[in-house]
Amino acid sequence: MTNKRIAIIGGGFAGMTAAYELGKLGYQTFLFERMPELGGLAGTFPIEGTRLERGYHHWFTSDTHIVAQMEELGLGDRVQWIPSRTGWFDQNKIWNMVSPTDLLRLGTLPFVDRVRLGMVVAYLTYLQSSKKNLAQYEKITAAEWWKKFGGRNAWDKVWSPLFRGKFGAAAENIPMEWHWYKIVLRIGSRKGMTKEALGYPRGSFQVLIDALADAIRKQGGKIYLGATVQRVVVENSVAVGLQFADDAAARRELAGGESYARFDRVICTAPSFAALKIVSEFPREYVAKMNAAKYMAAVLVILKLKKSLSPIYWLNIADRTIPFVATIEQTNFIPPQVYNDKRILYVSNYLDPSSPYFQMSRDELFHAYLPHLQKINPQFSPDWVEEMWHFKEAAAQPIVPLNYSAMIPEYRTPLRNLYLANTTQIYPEDRGTNYSVRLGQEIARMLDEDVKREA
Ligand SMILES: Cc1cc2nc3c(=O)[nH]c(=O)nc-3n(C[C@H](O)[C@H](O)[C@H](O)COP(=O)(O)OP(=O)(O)OC[C@H]3O[C@@H](n4cnc5c(N)ncnc54)[C@H](O)[C@@H]3O)c2cc1C
Repeated sequence: MTNKRIAIIGGGFAGMTAAYELGKLGYQTFLFERMPELGGLAGTFPIEGTRLERGYHHWFTSDTHIVAQMEELGLGDRVQWIPSRTGWFDQNKIWNMVSPTDLLRLGTLPFVDRVRLGMVVAYLTYLQSSKKNLAQYEKITAAEWWKKFGGRNAWDKVWSPLFRGKFGAAAENIPMEWHWYKIVLRIGSRKGMTKEALGYPRGSFQVLIDALADAIRKQGGKIYLGATVQRVVVENSVAVGLQFADDAAARRELAGGESYARFDRVICTAPSFAALKIVSEFPREYVAKMNAAKYMAAVLVILKLKKSLSPIYWLNIADRTIPFVATIEQTNFIPPQVYNDKRILYVSNYLDPSSPYFQMSRDELFHAYLPHLQKINPQFSPDWVEEMWHFKEAAAQPIVPLNYSAMIPEYRTPLRNLYLANTTQIYPEDRGTNYSVRLGQEIARMLDEDVKREA
């Protein structure tokens, strides 16, 4: 056991993993989460005697770090790999989108473009196995690349709706490198060519959140919930502690008579804009890096239904007249029996936080969405809805610019003893719980190396 006190800001998967890994190495860890529960973007809420993620969550077979963490914590038997059904909604019709033959049947795209699209996707997958240098793909946007090699229709009819759904007005600016990774990892999740298997922990992501919290506490770590860090205290460019509200339990227990609680090192896993609010001493160049990636917000309406909307788990909405980007029917993935035979549907939107949809109440959103849900299933009626929830997340998805690899903020910040670990540093992969686990592990290792070197 070392006597080094490490503070971790943020109780999402990056923060929890960093605390757990540092605990294994013998550090005294103190985890601060502003919300009343752990989990961050992967947090859950109670429903029908179980828990459900506020935003739909699953794993791909490439998500090896988090699956290994499940196994390490004795939860290996809870990892389920389940075939999933993806679809496409356009021209008032649901198109299956599971196998290459589904792509050949996608009537919204001229046949020759479908064949071309399939060949280009196969080529992108081949690039991975041939381990080609892919750095060139971060110099070109996915939009330009697809229009050039896959044809304008492939971009307009297939990719553009997906990119708009995830990145809004920035859809045309996302590097091809990001998309290449996404395609390859997604294809890697296929069982043969016809089925995609996705992972989900029996009992929801909460089982891993609980196991991590238990492990951290058993190691002697302390977890403070509802504990908003107001400021990272920096003296002579060295992080020395954290400040909390005067009446916060963390302050009463940890600060003694001082105005702040002292720590040897601090890891901040808050989104960059939130980190910049609590650290004002970063040099200008580092602030520029922290601002290089912006964030999309997510707005989720979750419906507990008497009947199913469609047979599809993940339905991408390509029809631009519909004001949401996907419906995700959890009970077409996890059996309805798990939720007392209710059907659970997410209506998902990624948008700029300035969008009016981000400000709307739950009921306003439902009324705005209702006629569009009826386009997907004309029978759908408000009578089907037994209960409804509404969640929004401001930092749901980083938007990375071209040539981002040179702009990623370093884990070791320019302020000594202060580390940054958030989703903007996950690249070229798309952010996800697996990569936050990897990030937490990397930061813990780096911090340990620094401590040992300086000793
Ligand atoms: C709609 C949606 C769907 C998703 N689907 C999937 C999926 O299918 N599979 C998958 O693997 N991933 C998915 N993700 C992504 C995944 O949830 C995230 O990448 C991951 O959970 C991020 O973890 P993190 O710890 O890096 O960040 P976060 O979860 O954002 O954690 C940061 C924490 O810091 C806290 N914090 C911020 N400021 C302060 C402060 N001043 N003081 C104290 N605490 C503070 C926040 O409250 C938060 O809990 C999805 C995300 C969304 C939004």
